[in-house]
Amino acid sequence: YAARAAGSQLMIYTPELDERADAAARLGADLRHSLDDGDFRVVYQPIVDLRTTRIRAVEALVRWHHPVRGFVSPVDFIPIAEDNGLIVELGEFVMRTACHKFAGWRALGPDAPDYVSVNVSARQLSEPGFPAVVAGILDECGLAPAELLVEVTETALFGGGTAVHAVETLHAAGVRIALDDFGTGHSSLGLLRTVPVDVLKVDKSFVDEITAGGERAVIADALIRVSNGLRLRAVAEGVETAEQAAYLRELGYEYAQGYYFGKPVPDPDFSPLTTAKI
Ligand code: C2E
Ligand code: MG
Ligand code: MG
Ligand code: MG
Repeated sequence: YAARAAGSQLMIYTPELDERADAAARLGADLRHSLDDGDFRVVYQPIVDLRTTRIRAVEALVRWHHPVRGFVSPVDFIPIAEDNGLIVELGEFVMRTACHKFAGWRALGPDAPDYVSVNVSARQLSEPGFPAVVAGILDECGLAPAELLVEVTETALFGGGTAVHAVETLHAAGVRIALDDFGTGHSSLGLLRTVPVDVLKVDKSFVDEITAGGERAVIADALIRVSNGLRLRAVAEGVETAEQAAYLRELGYEYAQGYYFGKPVPDPDFSPLTTAKI
């Protein structure tokens, strides 16, 4: 308190911080139980081609049905699972579930989506056996490596080390790599020279600017140019309106994802062959 009252940036100790740490520890323990009890599910959101309106890919997102609290957002529990290491087991569950489900959809024929996107955290990438685990799952499911896109954040790769090495190993094996929430993390552009990347997922905040007025879409425009220049695919995230979709198409975006096209849904509700509304 004294430090804060003095206007210092240093927060040494507050009761609120302590409470937050307690809550995180409780949630961390609950994560362990829920992993054993099967309280996690995977939901799927379509990624569409803005020109043809077809679903070209699907992103897998984890959901926790907490026995007491009900829905808990991944934004709240993923960081805790990263801290206590349970993200390794949880992440493998998501990867295996998503790849098996996608293999079934892929078998529907040539109109089926081309790849499944799975989010992977820094902690998973730092596990020495991670690329081998991924290879094993692809093998189990009969998926080609290029049918999997691993989504990592810039921040996870900041500082290099084992995480970058894992990305290189996966990429060399044919798995494709996306930078998620692109433009919001550390060292955005420099990373593109040092890490093998196939896809840029342009963060929702830049899509929102399109309809926010003022300097409309300056960054969305810059990022599609960077993407084209480096021969990467850009995917616009968080598209919520027809106006945003139309503007992104004008800017040259090929792929997009967002509530406008479809919210994340459990697998029985996901229809991989439908045409999205545009
Ligand atoms: P992300 O990977 O950037 O995923 C996109 C998030 O935006 C998802 O939130 C999705 O439901 C949401 N979203 C999609 N379209 C729209 C839209 O039009 N409007 C708005 N407002 N939101 C939209 P979700 O599922 O809550 O996940 C949040 C974040 O948690 C993810 O961001 C990702 O970083 C992390 N996450 C989710 N599942 C996993 C997982 O299995 N493993 C790891 N490591 N992280 C995960
Ligand atoms: Mg993602
Ligand atoms: Mg994202
Ligand atoms: Mg995001």
